[in-house]
Amino acid sequence: MAINFFDSHAHYYDDRFYGEENPQGAEKLLEELFADGLLGVINVGTNHRSNLRAIEQAKKYPLMYVAAGIHPEDVASTDIGVEGELAELYALLENREKREENKMVALGEIGLDYYWEPYDRDQQIYCFEAQMEMARKLDLPVVIHDREAHGDSFDVVCKYPEVRGVFHSYSGSAEMAKELIKRGWYISFSGVVSFKNAAKIKEVAKIVPDDRILIETDAPYLAPHPFRGKINHSGRLFYTATALAEASGRSVEDVARLTRENTKRLFGI
Ligand SMILES: [Zn+2]
Repeated sequence: MAINFFDSHAHYYDDRFYGEENPQGAEKLLEELFADGLLGVINVGTNHRSNLRAIEQAKKYPLMYVAAGIHPEDVASTDIGVEGELAELYALLENREKREENKMVALGEIGLDYYWEPYDRDQQIYCFEAQMEMARKLDLPVVIHDREAHGDSFDVVCKYPEVRGVFHSYSGSAEMAKELIKRGWYISFSGVVSFKNAAKIKEVAKIVPDDRILIETDAPYLAPHPFRGKINHSGRLFYTATALAEASGRSVEDVARLTRENTKRLFGI
């Protein structure tokens, strides 16, 4: 089956792609996926080390692009400290030519995660705001991670009205999605939309307009039904797209076309 999708968010450098769940390794898998018609991937870093891995990997595939950022879960555990991470990130992003050479199209993923306890709310907000400021200065779109932190995430993005981007694997309410859409944001759907208990996200799918809808794997995470809990990859986007099509009253073909066009527009590809 051809994979006529643009995967707007994945982590193909992740160790899981080199472990027993995928003994062939990420490279063999990606070769197969692109040969099957995968239309593009944004390979998303989460700290300085994984940002570099994402860049190296993307150089091997013409249709793979990179987002680099400091994930809220990585803020507490980084061995170079938050200031070290921010300095390395800025060094990667500041020069436009170098950015283009590295196929870096966005700053992310960044945001807030209050799911895993304990977390340092002040430190997460500090790092998130510093990266929003960087995105404003460099005029880059952002990829937002918001888990169990909807109110604070919304407040932070509203402080930077010039910055645009996507809420990846969106998990907030339909009301908040409406407010974000009004402010120019995109909403991305992952395999979660195919889960039986995903009533809230299916409601969101109904209200997101044609020009703001994105699709993603978040591979190796968030595999759609019937692969829930297994390793995820872009070859499984069809299942997510089918659930998204059903929930939103669109055809699978329209979901594929709209999400591809929107991803390219948002990231300037
Ligand atoms: Zn992710």
